[in-house]
Amino acid sequence: MTDRLPGFSTLAVHAGAQPDPTTGARATPIYQTTSFVFNDADHAASLFGLQAFGNIYTRIGNPTNAVLEERVAALEGGTAGLAVASGHAAQLVVLQQLMKPGDEVIAARKLYGGSINQFTHAFKAFGWNVAWADPDEVSTFEQAVTPHTKAIFIESIANPAGSITDIEAIAAVARKAGVPLIVDNTLASPYLIKPIDHGADIVVHSATKFLGGHGNSLGGIIVDAGTFDWSKDNKYPMLSEPRPEYHGIRIQETFGNFAFAIACRVLGLRDLGPALSPFNAFMILTGIETLPLRMQKHCDNAKAVAEFLSGHPAVSAVNYAGLPSDRYNNLQRKYAPKGAGAVFTFSLKGGYDAGVNLVSNLKLFSHLANVGDTRSLVIHPASTTHSQLDDAAKVKSGAAPDVVRLSIGIEDKEDLIADLDQALRA
Ligand SMILES: *Cc1c(COP(=O)(O)O)cnc(C)c1O
Repeated sequence: MTDRLPGFSTLAVHAGAQPDPTTGARATPIYQTTSFVFNDADHAASLFGLQAFGNIYTRIGNPTNAVLEERVAALEGGTAGLAVASGHAAQLVVLQQLMKPGDEVIAARKLYGGSINQFTHAFKAFGWNVAWADPDEVSTFEQAVTPHTKAIFIESIANPAGSITDIEAIAAVARKAGVPLIVDNTLASPYLIKPIDHGADIVVHSATKFLGGHGNSLGGIIVDAGTFDWSKDNKYPMLSEPRPEYHGIRIQETFGNFAFAIACRVLGLRDLGPALSPFNAFMILTGIETLPLRMQKHCDNAKAVAEFLSGHPAVSAVNYAGLPSDRYNNLQRKYAPKGAGAVFTFSLKGGYDAGVNLVSNLKLFSHLANVGDTRSLVIHPASTTHSQLDDAAKVKSGAAPDVVRLSIGIEDKEDLIADLDQALRA
């Protein structure tokens, strides 16, 4: 070994993993067990008191999941990670550490549709207020800050149109307001964008998408950047106040720059319970080993498909940040120079009916509600995910009747283009 710091592809294969100490197994074993035997009574007591690190019960931690946590933390450049059952569980667990009833989170208006639902309905029912801001107008974040603001939440590459967010500008607003910036990095993955390098304090993922990458396992990840001072002004009592159930320790004081990840584990996972199954952790870890290869192919294919669609007579507009004419192209070249991701939208001259016809006539693309699969996927939001909205609301949320969303897979780009071409003619 040399003193070189390992590169991204090396970390994607190795970070967090060792040959199994008892069997020599080289792939990370699936530790399919609920619980772990204590060495003795003192060991048990110290684990329960957070005086020693170790395994107790899989709701709080598991050795297979621990490899996944360390790997994603390394890829994102954070201090620690936590694996949870889904992307939505990651968002819930993160905000539960920060928010009390009456507190406020400022969220970008352009979010994954499921996140808009989660914030609008479930979080409001907890008494957490949501202020929406426009990620294309940084001043709207600044204007939304109040004394009750506890966090800012954005996506690095935003659903559905693949727009690129100016993370550094919004991080500056968060710093000034004294609140953490949380970035959902699902559509970019750390291969394209590392939000912590641009000022994010917390990164969340739906590992269901590009990290796992094969459309077969749900999962979520939280990464702690280790950058935020949780004890300032006593704004975050979950982290700064003594914890009665842990002999009065203060989480920030005890765990320093990975305190937030610890809080998510020993308060969030412990009490809310959305643990990731070790089997899914294994599937996602296996997916991550090829993340750099897949992501580059996803991006190269997406760019070729976007270029093809831009020149097609049935297409009125293509929103892909990787096209030089796109309004997000400057931000793409700054934040995601290796590629603009694989999820984007385009509009059809034939409107709603043309959108419905297109999804019906595509053969290689699967018509379904997911992104970040090896397979290419398509959805017509106006007739599915956004069908309950009136036309004006559809347009505002980027799901106008003529809009189709693609998630480009890793097939041969010529086959994807041929499939789109035959479906657009049909
Ligand atoms: C899918 C998705 C989520 C939610 O993740 P689940 O794993 O489905 O719970 C959150 N954010 C983005 C950007 C997503 O694409």
